[in-house]
Amino acid sequence: MKRVLLSFVMALMCCTGAMGQNVNKIYMPQSIGDVRQEVVIPDVAGYKVLKCDFHIHTVFSDGYVWPTMRLEEAWQEGLDAIAITDHIEYRPFKKVVVGDLNESFKIAKKHGDGMGFIVIQGTEITRKKPLGHLNALFINDANVMDVEDPLVAIDKALEQGAFILWNHPGWPDDKSTLYPVHEELLKANKIHAVEVLNHKEYYPVAFDWCNQYGIAPMANTDIHDLVSGDYGWGGGKMRPMTLVFATERSEKGIKEALFARRTAALFDGKLVGKAEYLMPLVQASLKIRRIGERTIEVTNISDIPFEMTNGGKLYLFPCHKTVRIGIPKEGALVFENCFVGMKQKLSIPFEWWSSIL
Ligand code: ZN
Repeated sequence: MKRVLLSFVMALMCCTGAMGQNVNKIYMPQSIGDVRQEVVIPDVAGYKVLKCDFHIHTVFSDGYVWPTMRLEEAWQEGLDAIAITDHIEYRPFKKVVVGDLNESFKIAKKHGDGMGFIVIQGTEITRKKPLGHLNALFINDANVMDVEDPLVAIDKALEQGAFILWNHPGWPDDKSTLYPVHEELLKANKIHAVEVLNHKEYYPVAFDWCNQYGIAPMANTDIHDLVSGDYGWGGGKMRPMTLVFATERSEKGIKEALFARRTAALFDGKLVGKAEYLMPLVQASLKIRRIGERTIEVTNISDIPFEMTNGGKLYLFPCHKTVRIGIPKEGALVFENCFVGMKQKLSIPFEWWSSIL
C-alpha cells in the first residue's frame, strides 16, 4: 500500500511539474545551434592542425545564405577558420542585397569577432576557361579588383599581399587542364595553391601539380546552399576541409602557413598532401600497444579513418576505435587513403612501426 501511495505521489509531482509551466523547456537546455561537433585531428610536428574552408559563398554573390550563418555553420561543424569568397563578376542578387564587394566580409568579420572565430577576407575572380576561377585570400579591398582583365585583377590582389588559389581545375568540363596562362602564372609565383578537391569532386592530376610547381593542396566546399544540405549533419559526411599546419591559431598563423605551403586536403576519408606532413599526422593518430608476442592494439584517436596495407594484407583503423591485429610483417606500411601524388600513396618505413612496438 505504501509503495502504491509513493508511486501516486511521484506521478502527481511529475504531472504538476510539467503542467505548472506554460512552456516546458527542461529537455532543451540549449539550442542545437550552440553545439559544436569537434573534429579531432592531433597536432603534429610542432604545429597546430587547423581545419579551414577557403571557398565560401553568400547571398552577396550566388549563395543562398547570409554571411553570419556561414560562421555559425563552420563553428558547429568544428572548423577553426573560413574565408568569404564571393564572386566579383557574378552577383545575381545585387538588386536586392545592397553593398559593395567587401560587404559580405564586413558582416561576417563583425560576427566572427563576436564569437572568437577567424574570418579571412577573400574574393573569387570568375572567368571562363582557360583561366577559370581563382580565389584571392587575405585581401583588404575587393572593389579594386573589379576590372576587365583578370590578370590585372590578380596583380591588384597581389599588391594587397594576397594568396592566390586556383579553384576547381576540373570544373565545369571534367577536364583538369593546365593551360599556358596557368603555366605563366605559376612561373611568376602568382598561383600559390590549387583545389585538389572542390565540393564533391577530386582532381587527381592536381595532386602532381602540387609537387611539380610547389603549390599547396586544398579541399574546400565552394558552398552555395546550406552545408548540412550538401553533406548532412551529425550522421552525414564531414565537410571538405583544408588542414593547415600553423604555428599559432590566428589569421597571421594561417597566412604564414599557407605561404609556406603547409597544408593537406581532407574529404571522404582521403588525405592529400606532402609526406612530411601526412606521415607525422598518421603517426600521431595511431597509438600502438603491444599486448603479446605477436599481437598489438592500434587505437585511432582521430576523426580520419585509415586504411593500411602490408604484405598483401589490408588493415582498417576506424575513427576512435581500437583494433587488435597480428604484428604486420616487414616491408613498407602503405596508407591507401593518403595520397602524396596522383599515383603515389603514403608509405611509412617498417622501422617506424617496429621502433614503437
Ligand atoms: Zn566559388
